[in-house]
Amino acid sequence: MSNQKLKSLRGFQDFLPDDLKYITLIEKIIKDTVHQNGLSEIRTPIVENAEIFFKTIGETSDIINKEMYIFNDKNQESICLRPEGTAAIVRSVLQHNLIYDRGIKKRKFWYYGPMFRYERPQKGRYRQFHQFGVEFFGFNDMSSDVELIQIVNSIFTKLQINNSVLHINSIGNASDRIKYGHLIKSFLEKYTKSLDETSLRTLERNPLRLLDSKDLHVKELLSSLPLLKDNLSHESQKKFNDFLELLDELKISYLYDNTIVRGLDYYNDTVFEWKCDELGSQDAICAGGRYDNLINSLNKIEMPASGIAIGIERILEIIKNKQIQVDVWCYPIISGADTSRKEFMSISQEIRSKHPSKSFFTTDYDASSSSQLKYAKKLNANTAIIIDSSSHKENEVIMKDFVDNSEKIIKINNLDDFLK
Ligand code: ATP
Ligand code: MG
Repeated sequence: MSNQKLKSLRGFQDFLPDDLKYITLIEKIIKDTVHQNGLSEIRTPIVENAEIFFKTIGETSDIINKEMYIFNDKNQESICLRPEGTAAIVRSVLQHNLIYDRGIKKRKFWYYGPMFRYERPQKGRYRQFHQFGVEFFGFNDMSSDVELIQIVNSIFTKLQINNSVLHINSIGNASDRIKYGHLIKSFLEKYTKSLDETSLRTLERNPLRLLDSKDLHVKELLSSLPLLKDNLSHESQKKFNDFLELLDELKISYLYDNTIVRGLDYYNDTVFEWKCDELGSQDAICAGGRYDNLINSLNKIEMPASGIAIGIERILEIIKNKQIQVDVWCYPIISGADTSRKEFMSISQEIRSKHPSKSFFTTDYDASSSSQLKYAKKLNANTAIIIDSSSHKENEVIMKDFVDNSEKIIKINNLDDFLK
């Protein structure tokens, strides 16, 4: 096989141990948080009938326009790799009557797994990436949207991500958006000659998407556009005010942002995105909102719903730079030739069994203690446990702290206190 073929595909990446330390931490925090919020997990297949996404996401969206991984299987059936979680979860909960069975059942679900989009690979943008998502079904009250925000904020706080900003907007109902689309068109009428082809096409097909355009000229032109929130129906306006009031009461900080319109058609009313400016241009780390009409589009049931999805690779990028203490890595090291291999093995095992939540790595028994210490440091250990023959006789070990480079002698029985 040529070296060229021995590479992963463009936009697909291996996660290696260094990254996985952080990914495991993210996953642990996610699991703790979903448990605290009483959410139930659903795992759907990676391949689905493409129709599910065509019917829900919207034909002018980036995903449907250019990012779908669609194949014909051996039976010539058209299948796709899922580009996102929401539509697949909705398919699943409808198929198994989890949210509707002679009436609406209020349910809260979460999912985690790989998604696939044929995008131009770049930093923060991959063809296979991972999302953690939460979906609420049957909840109409704005407090459920705020609860979604609390869930995301709590995950970010636990991960010590404190420089992300929650941007929010309301995109109202379908007729509010049609009206606002007309407003954008007439507002830009006298500037159409100055717009490039892409912007003109967007203006024609889905004018609201111009609001999140990265084109500086478009941004400049639209900076004086009347705001969407001031052009909502009475009902949507009321919902949005209610939502903002609750955020204020709970002292949840946010930024009102008229450019948050979301690329997927199924959203209505409240929409939100968390952005983190240290990421550069791919700065959205979580997105979500209300999608009260999606279920109706698949199966004619009126059912309020809302959800969020966090992009795991972008979170990884942030916390990798933060030196979060990922784990306590300890290396039982025996120095001194008269400690037997048997002792080395049994002490290591004893320490492991007494501290099941800690991670211990043993180096070579017969390597010199200085090379073992060097190796432990190279692997980013924060502590080494050194067991030499003299201390061992006294039932003691030496704890070497790599953070402040100190050493102390402690009784093996007291290890517990130090490992906490
Ligand atoms: P973007 O504006 O970056 O294209 P999007 O609106 O397409 O994002 P969503 O469908 O809302 O993204 O997905 C939710 C989150 O998933 C995004 O905020 C981002 O963190 C992550 N995400 C989306 N596409 C990718 C990708 N190709 N690679 C890595 N992460 C992604
Ligand atoms: Mg996208």
